[in-house]
Amino acid sequence: MIIVMDVNSPEENVNAVVDKLESNGFQAHLIRGVKRIVIGAVGDRGSLSSMGLEVMPGVVSAVPIMKPFKLVSREAGGGNSVVKVGNAEIGGREIVLLAGPCAVESEEQIYAAAKAVKASGAGILRGGAFKPRTSPYSFQGMEEEGLRIMSEAAKQYGLATVTEVIDLQSLDVALKYVDMVQIGARNMQNFRLLQAVGRAGSPVLLKRGLSATVEEWLMAAEYIATEGNAGIVLCERGIRTFETYTRNTLDLSAVPLVKSLSHLPVVVDPSHATGLRKLVGPMSLAAVAAGADGLLVEVHPDPQKALCDGPQSLNPGEFNKLAGDLKTVAAAVGRSA
Ligand code: PEP
Ligand code: MN
Repeated sequence: MIIVMDVNSPEENVNAVVDKLESNGFQAHLIRGVKRIVIGAVGDRGSLSSMGLEVMPGVVSAVPIMKPFKLVSREAGGGNSVVKVGNAEIGGREIVLLAGPCAVESEEQIYAAAKAVKASGAGILRGGAFKPRTSPYSFQGMEEEGLRIMSEAAKQYGLATVTEVIDLQSLDVALKYVDMVQIGARNMQNFRLLQAVGRAGSPVLLKRGLSATVEEWLMAAEYIATEGNAGIVLCERGIRTFETYTRNTLDLSAVPLVKSLSHLPVVVDPSHATGLRKLVGPMSLAAVAAGADGLLVEVHPDPQKALCDGPQSLNPGEFNKLAGDLKTVAAAVGRSA
């Protein structure tokens, strides 16, 4: 069951609902969205229908939700949520571009990347500083120094920032520098990390796990939401299949599916989904046509020299062309880019 309350409800009205739920044996998870206050009631010790919640001051509706995810369900959101990251708004009319290198490698590289993606209309600079690499011998990232130079480059070009966190320590460091934290595919079910990100309250980009079902992915988002964090953006980045020509298989059907199940914005990462530069453009256009609210694209000033994921990274010229092509598709589906 979720209880939807008017966003302007005074504190005592919200507390009265929470107290009523708790005194009837329910756990109450409060989440303050931009448009409404939602309280998720979890428990099976009482009957919600006999509690008279609907008539309490500030209560708009009390809706039973049979799905395992509650706070992130479409019923709880009242339409599409918009997540604000710096000056960018993900989930509104505009398609947001989150772009930049796989990893921050040097001051020169991240400034060049920031300049290029800004010139093509990106709103958010991406760059990994704590890299979850498959091999322990691969470049692991510049850590705090990388985040420091990325945040300075972003400031210079008027961009917001997103970076991946891989554990509680990297989360603490990242929160000092970036506007949004990313939970990578490999950590999608790191439940303690999800809860910590939920408590931190920072906007979060939650990638789909390598072989996660849509329900598992939404339950991971629910872990973040139950800690009170409403700023969740989902990212489809391809799943493991038998296909070997591509790095992963982009599940584009997940975009309209998730949007029908959840109020959360959805972005697509065509770079990790395909692993191939030549497929990034076509899959980006398809993602926007399918209803994606944004794209996470790897862009490197010189992909040949990239320390990480060069074969799937666009150069600035390729990204600029893609950003232009997107405008036509966005317009065709009633969006702007
Ligand atoms: C990344 O975005 O750099 C990354 C490692 O992605 P994923 O978690 O989707 O593999
Ligand atoms: Mn990468």
